[in-house]
Amino acid sequence: MSDDCIFCSIVDGEIPARTVHETDDVLAFLDANPLAPGHTLVIPKAHAARVGDLDADLASAVFDTVAAITPEIEAAVDADGANVGLNDGEAAGQEVPHVHIHAVPRFDGDGGAPIHAVGG
Ligand code: IMP
Repeated sequence: MSDDCIFCSIVDGEIPARTVHETDDVLAFLDANPLAPGHTLVIPKAHAARVGDLDADLASAVFDTVAAITPEIEAAVDADGANVGLNDGEAAGQEVPHVHIHAVPRFDGDGGAPIHAVGG
């Protein structure tokens, strides 16, 4: 738990969130400003600001959850794919300094950009 961390407050139940999946170490919840229906964030419950702050077991647990739920999210919103990604550090656009992986459902012909379009 880190003071003033919005995602730690979600883990603690102080800020409401729509939980998608939960384990002892990982929480997945809907993004408050979704880029697409079903846009989900997957976080370690323990505070870690940057991906390099995660120990190997926790990094594995977070990605295990991403791998498990992304197909389920896609099915739930009838998506055709998903962008799965992480903004690491302010320079990369990380706004909330608590590691989170975005799973953003994508739909054939939705016109959105792929992750490799980042940086032009
Ligand atoms: P970032 O730019 O990769 O750090 O993404 C932060 C994400 O957190 C954005 O997509 C926000 O919409 C999302 N977000 C911020 N506050 C909340 C919240 O209280 N609940 C759910 N999502 C949030």
